[in-house]
Amino acid sequence: MKINDVTLTIREGMVVWPGEPEVDLHRVKKLEEGANANVTYMGFAVHTGTHVDAPRHFIADGNSVDLLDLNMLIGEVTVVEIPQDVDHISAAVIARSGLAVGTERVLFKTRNSNYWVENRGDFQPGFVGITEDGAQALVELGVKLVGIDYLSIAPYKMSRPTHLVLLKEKMVVIEGLDLSKVKPGKYTLYCLPLKLANADGAPARVILIED
Ligand SMILES: [Zn+2]
Repeated sequence: MKINDVTLTIREGMVVWPGEPEVDLHRVKKLEEGANANVTYMGFAVHTGTHVDAPRHFIADGNSVDLLDLNMLIGEVTVVEIPQDVDHISAAVIARSGLAVGTERVLFKTRNSNYWVENRGDFQPGFVGITEDGAQALVELGVKLVGIDYLSIAPYKMSRPTHLVLLKEKMVVIEGLDLSKVKPGKYTLYCLPLKLANADGAPARVILIED
């Protein structure tokens, strides 16, 4: 059994969505200053690093992240590689990808994963995302969970339409995956977001198991 960790490391100075707080991760108790133990404080938006979006992110009365069904967050997943020259994942791109009807979980590996390899600390507005018609195509295929390798599932400045299509269907959205080291194919996904009451999302540890 091989465990692929596709989670970004949350650290100070890491790239965050424009306008959201920078990561604050510092010790409030220090052994070297005579404290009984080291204790680290964490302060950041729930949409930091590798994280899950709950329906409440874009829908006022939508479910919060603590209520997501664990049955959706664990199970067979297909990693689909999108050619490096594709700028947006549209319905046409999804049709060409060969994704089968009835695929429940899909993660899109795009050229975005290069950003993590190159260790780009600044926000990349040209990242690849799923268009509204691409989101609709996923709904029609019966997809229940979709993930991508940058900080939003939708292209920059086009957040709302894509998120609404997916979240209205109660689809689980995972953002900020690092898929640079995984090949396309089938894996078992384990995605466990922190159980944060009433929150619109949560950071998650995400692993892909291959046997
Ligand atoms: Zn998010």
